[in-house]
Amino acid sequence: MPNRMVVALAGNPNAGKTTLFNALTGARQHVGNWPGVTVEKKEGSLWHADHEIHVVDLPGTYSLTAYSLEEIIARNFVVQGAPDVVLDVVDASNLERNLYLSVQLLEMGAKVIMALNMIDVAEGRKIHIDHKKLSELLGIPIIPTNGKKGVGIHVLLDTALDKSQDEKPVAGSVIQYGTEIEEELVKIESKLNEARFHLGKLSNRWIAVKLLEGDPEIISLVNGSETTNEIVSQVEKSRKHLIDIFADTPEILFTDARYGFISGAIKQSVHVETTDRVHLSENIDKYLTNRVLGPVILLLVLYSVYLVTFQGSEPLVNWFEAFFKWLGATVTDLLPEGLLRSLLVSGIIDGVGGVLGFTPLIAFMFFAIAILEDTGYMARIAFMLDRVLRGFGLHGASMLALMVSGGIAGGCAVPGIMATRTMKEPKERLVTILVAPLMNCGAKLPVYALMIGAFFPHGKAQIMFLLTIVSWALALTAAKIIRSTVLAGPSAPFVLELPPYRMPTLRGLLIHTWERTWMYVKKAGTVILAISVIIWAMMTFPGLAPEKAEPFDKKIETLTSEFLALPSAQQVFATEADLETFANFRTKLGEGRGAEFENEKRGYWVLAAALGDKAAEKRVAKSAITEMTALAEDYKKYADEKAEVENEKQSTKLRNTIAGRLGVALEYVFKPIGFDWRTNVALVGGFAAKEVVVSTLGTAYSLGEVNPSEESSSLPERLQKESGWNPLMAVCLIMFVMLYNPCFTTLVVIRKETGTWRWTLFAMGYTTLLAYCVALVVKVVGSLLNVGI
Ligand code: GDP
Ligand code: MG
Repeated sequence: MPNRMVVALAGNPNAGKTTLFNALTGARQHVGNWPGVTVEKKEGSLWHADHEIHVVDLPGTYSLTAYSLEEIIARNFVVQGAPDVVLDVVDASNLERNLYLSVQLLEMGAKVIMALNMIDVAEGRKIHIDHKKLSELLGIPIIPTNGKKGVGIHVLLDTALDKSQDEKPVAGSVIQYGTEIEEELVKIESKLNEARFHLGKLSNRWIAVKLLEGDPEIISLVNGSETTNEIVSQVEKSRKHLIDIFADTPEILFTDARYGFISGAIKQSVHVETTDRVHLSENIDKYLTNRVLGPVILLLVLYSVYLVTFQGSEPLVNWFEAFFKWLGATVTDLLPEGLLRSLLVSGIIDGVGGVLGFTPLIAFMFFAIAILEDTGYMARIAFMLDRVLRGFGLHGASMLALMVSGGIAGGCAVPGIMATRTMKEPKERLVTILVAPLMNCGAKLPVYALMIGAFFPHGKAQIMFLLTIVSWALALTAAKIIRSTVLAGPSAPFVLELPPYRMPTLRGLLIHTWERTWMYVKKAGTVILAISVIIWAMMTFPGLAPEKAEPFDKKIETLTSEFLALPSAQQVFATEADLETFANFRTKLGEGRGAEFENEKRGYWVLAAALGDKAAEKRVAKSAITEMTALAEDYKKYADEKAEVENEKQSTKLRNTIAGRLGVALEYVFKPIGFDWRTNVALVGGFAAKEVVVSTLGTAYSLGEVNPSEESSSLPERLQKESGWNPLMAVCLIMFVMLYNPCFTTLVVIRKETGTWRWTLFAMGYTTLLAYCVALVVKVVGSLLNVGI
């Protein structure tokens, strides 16, 4: 007698598997992934009646076909992991739907015991289940449980032990499919037996059913055996025969038979008290998914998500930005000018800070999304938009993938594309994967926020809302076009689930928010850091050759000595070093640190006041200021001229670098839209990850800017001052970033999910082309109408 046994928990999503699992194993559990995939695997163990029981929580599934990854994992575990007992967790309040999986487990020939979970919910809804009768009908032990309160756990364990020691061979059949089908099943079974084909402890009857259903996994397993041909030709003959008789495919026949069996079993064992009390969720749905009211509420909900996200997070975002600004200024103070300081400030702090600064915004957005998901409203969104989506050749389930990808701005195409795994229709699934990267993912938000902050400071929430609509419109149009050209074909009917509304727990919401936000931060900390440094290097090397720098330096020298020679200047400045000290002093004044210069020359204070520095004006007499007006004029002229030369030098230097040359080369391509080479460099960086667009713009402009008094101005301020930048250009950039090439990580996932490079390259090509065309149209139309220039 083995004193160690394995119990696998199977069941529909939300039947309460994990809750029961936790009740069974307590703290003795281990969470990992199923081999090779990112589906969570939970395992744990416990001692019961001198036996060590090892429990595995299988992914939730509605069926055991081979359509989704979850189904394949669950099925393979039952087949190959050979659990001693399969504990089928069933939601008693949704018995009919849940039994579909149970019936299939029985057909497979697994040793099944059933936990009739959520028995409290069923009773609350006046659903009375005669579990003894049902147990008789199905031929398996059934134990009513309440996972939340731990009711029935002990009996469950006793039953599992009993069942595992039960030596009786399992029948592998509960349902009789009627003479015609049974005859064909027998024929296939005997071919399998002749070929000595076996799959673990599985009954060959089940394999015959799967072969008739056209299950690709099982077919490929059978194809591996030697006498394949006879089996395959028998399956084909049988299929054809059945289609001739019933004018329906075997899949449909089996499904009908299973549901017929289930509804019969339920009729005999379940009694629902007739009552006119409508269930609460249905009551709520009367309003929330109402034809007229529903969409209005939907729009209001989406809009408030934005308000909360943007306005709620604003103080925190400002605080983060101020912190990185301070950090940059501090490091600048501490280190001497040179490569190291440039790397730290321009490469690392500006680059990573630009991305991390948006962390609070991302967190607020994820929190709002978590509320939608945890209450069950997300499913209603999918439900209401289903008809619209079908019109575009998509699937109701596409909604979830698109939402996660950024349908509500702030998602990520990586999990979004992974969410398509549950979709059964290959064409709808592929289109969803292809258009998911067009949504407004979290990485694009910093770019939008930068542009909106700089050029549309008064309409943040409204513009974000508009951008969401635009990205949906474009994604749907793209889907429609792809579905009527490269992926033409009709779509299949399907059922949409409507889970009951639930009150979310704060803990659950916070965990969701934390996990996703942390993912964002981790990305910023690793990939983005590396890319920021690489891009910094590309933007720094090769530097300007000395002979090329000389003319600029000469010019500055001449300007300086001319200025110092002025009689008025000699009142305050004796040497070049004095000029530097003075510039430094003004910077500090601007930062409110003038006190450090308390004992500095009085002339500096007066001149600063004459130049309009507020902090100095307060401390100097009006009459003294008037005396300095002439010098102030001269100084201003000198400083402006010098800054101009220095900017020119910097920009010549940057153009000479690797990145500069690339950006310049791309100017030919982007000329019609008007992106200059700095923007081009940023877009090139965005191929790796879209956040990088912001950090690269930051690095580009900070390296190109030398006027010390502007050293601390933030990127939006700098962009506003740049010639060539205007609201129209901002919109062009937003549109381009929204649409062009999916980031590197997304491409890797697309490759993995589609299985081919062909579709990956297609995704790169069509998105970039679309981006170019849309940005161009915006530019041309905007210029013609003369808006935003
Ligand atoms: P899984 O998807 O099958 O793993 O389901 P979970 O274990 O995550 O449970 C889904 C939800 O049902 C959770 O909110 C549980 O707290 C709740 N739940 C689980 N079992 C019961 C039960 O017996 N009664 C009630 N009322 N709720 C339950
Ligand atoms: Mg679970």
